[in-house]
Amino acid sequence: MRRIFIAGISGSIGQSTLSSLKHLQGLAKSSGLGKTAIKKRAAEYSLVGAALHSNWQFLLQICQEHPLESVAIADDSARQAFLQHPDKPKHILVFSQADRALSAIPCDVFVNALSGSAGLASSLLALKHAIPMLLANKESVVIGGHLMRQALTRSESRGLCFEKKQAKTAKKTATEGLGNIENQESTPRLPAVLPLDSEHAAIFSLLENKDQETINKLILTASGGPFFKRHQQNPSIEETLAHPNWKMGKKISVDSATMMNKGLEVIEAHVLFDFSYDKIDVVIHPEQAIHSLIEMKDGMCYAELGMTDMRYPIQRALTYPLRFHSSYKPFSLTSQRNLSFYECPLKQYPLFTTALNVAKMNNPAALVVMNAANQQAIELFLSRKVSFHDIPTLVEKTLAEFSFSQNSAASLDGVLALTHQTEIWLAQRYKESC
Ligand code: NDP
Ligand code: MG
Repeated sequence: MRRIFIAGISGSIGQSTLSSLKHLQGLAKSSGLGKTAIKKRAAEYSLVGAALHSNWQFLLQICQEHPLESVAIADDSARQAFLQHPDKPKHILVFSQADRALSAIPCDVFVNALSGSAGLASSLLALKHAIPMLLANKESVVIGGHLMRQALTRSESRGLCFEKKQAKTAKKTATEGLGNIENQESTPRLPAVLPLDSEHAAIFSLLENKDQETINKLILTASGGPFFKRHQQNPSIEETLAHPNWKMGKKISVDSATMMNKGLEVIEAHVLFDFSYDKIDVVIHPEQAIHSLIEMKDGMCYAELGMTDMRYPIQRALTYPLRFHSSYKPFSLTSQRNLSFYECPLKQYPLFTTALNVAKMNNPAALVVMNAANQQAIELFLSRKVSFHDIPTLVEKTLAEFSFSQNSAASLDGVLALTHQTEIWLAQRYKESC
């Protein structure tokens, strides 16, 4: 049995994960699979824990369908409403923080689909306790990549997905899984982190069976967001959230429009796969058919193509290293008339350049400040206090004027305190720049 905990269950990734789980559980019941290992694996999944911020009604609904044992609701009044509801299961443990709920029960797989810096404590906990993590929450990697590496070393786990040895280990495991799929009885050991972010999930797959020494660079694709080639003077919230390819939560949708998302993803790739920044490129590819590429030393490239639906990378991670049938639309080359590629117009996306510059400073505290300023600026934009084009100005202002010490990101508490101080600082000063 694989006991799964999903943090951020009510969000876009959380709900896609639930949909993938439902599909796998349906596969287990279907007659078409005979008595194969696939069927056995599909039947293994059991959702036992969940965390969210305030959507307690959704959690109540999940409790009716899954045997939840431990949950976290961050918002105080939402938690009280859940606790007092007559339909709340009697024996369920209820916490305020996701990491507390996760540590209260045994789990085999942790899905981190929280948004923003709220995901870091849970990421660290999963690594410390060697609970394999399906990771969507890129902010935790950006602000706490240094702590994640330390946590991993301490728990003597087998490495995040970035370890140089990973290719060989994965090759062995994948061969066991795919070569003899019908007879595979035992549950294979998972890597410490399986990335869900589509670009990183693609690179993870492309790196399998390849010696890292033979790879020249990683190439992340970017959509350019809703304003690529359609510059807007003063875009509304609705226009900003209307991503051309993906349905996502609000924060990541704004990040896609400013391309801060791609900056965060370059940092995520650096941490997860251990490639230096000069070996990670970004290319704009508006159709998003290619999720990412790797370039080999001999100049050949490998690419992963697929639909723009997060259920694909999620299902693949849930079933890793096996591959199950999915019920979603398969990718069709002929329905993609054109695939186009462009260099990133840096002037249009100042936050992308900012993110790369801060990343190369090799100062975790600066990454924390940048991430917190970006979170706060997005919050101000979504509450209609500043305009879209104020977002990069506010992040730059914070990086230039807010003073912080290099050591302040040396621990989880330090990172969270610095995040909080930065957000407060910007919330008090944003009017000066707008
Ligand atoms: P959403 O905004 O849709 O969902 C966020 C989830 O986190 C919700 O369940 C929310 O609960 C919960 N949450 C937010 N803050 C807290 C908190 N302080 N404590 C506990 N729970 C909290 O986000 P997405 O699903 O879009 O994104 C999640 C993460 O995945 C992000 O880091 C994003 O960058 C990354 N990602 C997302 C992709 C996508 O397609 N959406 C693609 C690749 C990466 P509630 O509903 O109660 O507010
Ligand atoms: Mg992505």
